[in-house]
Amino acid sequence: MRLRLLTYTGVFLALAATNAPAQTPPASTTPPATATSPQTAVAPPPFATTKVDGTDNVYIFRYQGHQSMFVVTNDGVIATDPIGYLRPQAVKTYIDEIKKVTDKPIKYLIYSHHHYDHIAGGKPFKDLGAKVVAHKNAKQHLLEVKYPDVVIPDEVVDNKKTIKLGGTTLDLIYVGRNHSDNSLVMHLPKEKIIFAVDFIPIQTVLFRNLPDTASVTDWEAGLKKVLALDWDRMIPGHPYAGGRLGTKKDVQDLIGYMSDLSAEVKKAADAGKCADQAMKEVKLPKYEKWGSYETFLPMNVERYCYYWSRGY
Ligand SMILES: [Zn+2]
Repeated sequence: MRLRLLTYTGVFLALAATNAPAQTPPASTTPPATATSPQTAVAPPPFATTKVDGTDNVYIFRYQGHQSMFVVTNDGVIATDPIGYLRPQAVKTYIDEIKKVTDKPIKYLIYSHHHYDHIAGGKPFKDLGAKVVAHKNAKQHLLEVKYPDVVIPDEVVDNKKTIKLGGTTLDLIYVGRNHSDNSLVMHLPKEKIIFAVDFIPIQTVLFRNLPDTASVTDWEAGLKKVLALDWDRMIPGHPYAGGRLGTKKDVQDLIGYMSDLSAEVKKAADAGKCADQAMKEVKLPKYEKWGSYETFLPMNVERYCYYWSRGY
């Protein structure tokens, strides 16, 4: 079988070629293993739908290196991120997978944030009658960029909105600017589960030079707000760390990473090394086992250099 190595936000996955026949995943699927080389990789199936242990109704749909949560209730389905950027077959598969679980209508499609790799391709959901919901800043960006394969949200969230459907409560919470200025934490209070995309990587350094990040300090403050919510498992938007769910310790570890990175870069900035020399010299050996450490650490350093040596 031909393999190709694809890189996603902090994740390396060896995946079956897209012309391989689609496989129906077993009822309970093993999370994809992270692979270090295509020679040793065991290719996970291109997609998988997994019910979250201990719940009756919370599912993870993974397509290649992206994941979404969907929740099945007595009165319909709450779906999230269509993950269909440049691959409409992912959206078709997502809807087919939901239909294998339930014949209830899909009532909502909620965007985690406005980045195309997570939210492009949602039209088939809209055509089935789903109401599209996102943070108000997401809608504003999407109206500006006018990307043709993104459905503009029907409803927006400011700081918080609660969706109640068929006995399920889902809180959509804005914790401030981080990886974007419109990331929503989706919180199922009864199930004590959150779905948080891209701004809480698990044992993985941050994406490149934090390209859509207006404030590194707001990001840390938002992580503390996430810790204050009542939950014990996190579904991420990419399968990090072997595909496991996140914990509050992962959030604490990320805060530790960001504060260690910030302190080291401040020293480099004060010594006049920002940005090019600092990008070569600053190392954080405590985190060298984290995903994307070699590739993205220098770019993470670059972003904090702007903060400490330029003030933004
Ligand atoms: Zn993103």
